[in-house]
Amino acid sequence: MPDDSTNKRTYDAIVIGSGASGGWAAKELCDYGLKTLILERGRYVEHIKDYPTASKAPWELEHRGTVSMEQRKDYQGARFLREETLHWALKDDEQPFVQEKPFRWVRGYHMGGKSLMWARQTQRWSDYDFEGPVRDGFAIDWPIRYKDIAPWYTHVEKFAGIAGNKDGLPELPDSEVMPGFEMSCIESYFKESIEKNFPGRHLIQARCAHITDPQAIHEQQGRHKCQNQAMCNRGCVYGSYFSSNASTIPWALKTGNLTIRPHAVVHSIIYDEKKGRASGVRIIDGQNKEMIEFYAKIIFVNASALNSNAILLNSVSSRFPNGLGNDSGLLGKYISWHNYRGKANAQYEGFKDKKTDGRNPSNSYIPRFRNILKQEMEFLRGYAIGIGGGRGSGANTDMIGDQLRENLLNPVLGNWNISSWMMGECVPLEKNHVRLHSDLKDKYGIPQLVVSCEWSENDDKMVEDYINQSKEMFEKAGFINIKAEDTKSPPGSDIHEMGGVRMGNDPKTSLLNKWNQLHSCNNVFVTDGACMTSTGTQNPTLTYMAVTARAADYAVGEMKKLNL
Ligand SMILES: Cc1cc2nc3c(=O)[nH]c(=O)nc-3n(C[C@H](O)[C@H](O)[C@H](O)COP(=O)(O)OP(=O)(O)OC[C@H]3O[C@@H](n4cnc5c(N)ncnc54)[C@H](O)[C@@H]3O)c2cc1C
Repeated sequence: MPDDSTNKRTYDAIVIGSGASGGWAAKELCDYGLKTLILERGRYVEHIKDYPTASKAPWELEHRGTVSMEQRKDYQGARFLREETLHWALKDDEQPFVQEKPFRWVRGYHMGGKSLMWARQTQRWSDYDFEGPVRDGFAIDWPIRYKDIAPWYTHVEKFAGIAGNKDGLPELPDSEVMPGFEMSCIESYFKESIEKNFPGRHLIQARCAHITDPQAIHEQQGRHKCQNQAMCNRGCVYGSYFSSNASTIPWALKTGNLTIRPHAVVHSIIYDEKKGRASGVRIIDGQNKEMIEFYAKIIFVNASALNSNAILLNSVSSRFPNGLGNDSGLLGKYISWHNYRGKANAQYEGFKDKKTDGRNPSNSYIPRFRNILKQEMEFLRGYAIGIGGGRGSGANTDMIGDQLRENLLNPVLGNWNISSWMMGECVPLEKNHVRLHSDLKDKYGIPQLVVSCEWSENDDKMVEDYINQSKEMFEKAGFINIKAEDTKSPPGSDIHEMGGVRMGNDPKTSLLNKWNQLHSCNNVFVTDGACMTSTGTQNPTLTYMAVTARAADYAVGEMKKLNL
């Protein structure tokens, strides 16, 4: 815990948020020698020590994994509510928000943020993604291209550890990988069928942030090989999967340059009108509700996309009456996300002599195949598909004693199952926005966020195509009991919140320049999902981490040149 006397509240850099992107900002800035302060609204979570359920067997959990009705009362807005991960769930009263239209906002408010909860899927973007807006005429042009970020993908991947293969696909550039997890036989069979029947489509092992072949850099982090337990979201005691807690934050702490202040709910960024730059950050202490200010030369905003929008919107001054850096009036607008509405599943009657053994913490992946080389569909952009396949088994447990034990040891094996989920690119629209409520405040006295986002016709058409294509691909593979549906889940269900502080070349149509600096307040960098000009189909966190490392490198260079 830092000393709060005035002279001790000044740092070289402040990072707001300790999640996937904030962890990277802290690591890079500390590596460069900057005295860095992380302001984190949640509690301190120490790797291993603070994973209370990590190694528990089902019978060691009071309710065998379910959450009692009594406990649920406090978590009405939470998703994925399970007993073994309840310690990551957010209570409703922590941060109420206004859903002008239905929206699922999944948050993780503890040190490490959602990097402790994520599914670790990490696919690179290609120029088909970066050039999408300018080619198709939606949103605005990205100020960067693949070549600008490729070295930073490499930088992040080598440190984080990514399992997968070199697939040689231009639409999904290869990552720095260590051996991928094995596909199940049904997935391998489906791969063959797709590649035979649908030229140009591929089914590959998804790339994911797990260490399968530890290198010296991982050993230096104290991280080990994945044990395939697939209990990742409880917190991984092996440090095999990438999280801020296992990787970037302990690394930054070891430099001696990092201070972490938990229970620090950022209220706003302080703008110095005389100097024409941000001078620090105002927090509300989460425990005693005291307002405290911290000062720094540069500020990285990494509170996760919607919170980063909220913080900037709440940072008002004479120069910026509508929010920090908001000369264009676009702050909070063009919020976007991913379209995970489509789901499909089927069964296969073959491979009766085979069954799965062990667990797979990842899955397979069909990279985007629509509108890549040219516009060919009635909708803009495209979708990738996640694929998982395994053999169903069940044991009759209607008895006790020897027969029960016998049944549990020899479950009846059913058909092979295959499931598929859509991951579509949403086109950012100005009307999809967040803003601050004029009256309603949370328990810290911070204005509540109003989220006003809805699906577009483009999303509907894309779901329809996914449903038809899933059925066709399943039919061609000879699968049975095929089901494909539009779940009509509300926006936000994919958990990939993006936009509102988008990057661009023109300050009139964007908030951030190509280095993630606010055009009109250049010592503030926004490098989480809020910076995304468009959304791609790929799981986005790898890209947030890469742009963060790139921006930190630039910021330090500018500080050395005395430009910041
Ligand atoms: C179940 C699940 C599965 C997912 N799977 C994937 C996947 O496979 N691949 C993928 O790419 N992404 C996935 N994601 C999304 C991924 O976790 C996020 O994209 C990523 O964590 C975002 O990083 P971030 O740094 O922007 O935010 P976070 O990791 O959410 O961190 C934000 C941090 O900021 C803190 N904070 C917020 N507001 C304030 C404030 N006012 N003051 C101080 N601190 C604040 C929070 O407490 C938090 O610690 C998944 C998420 C979930 C929940």
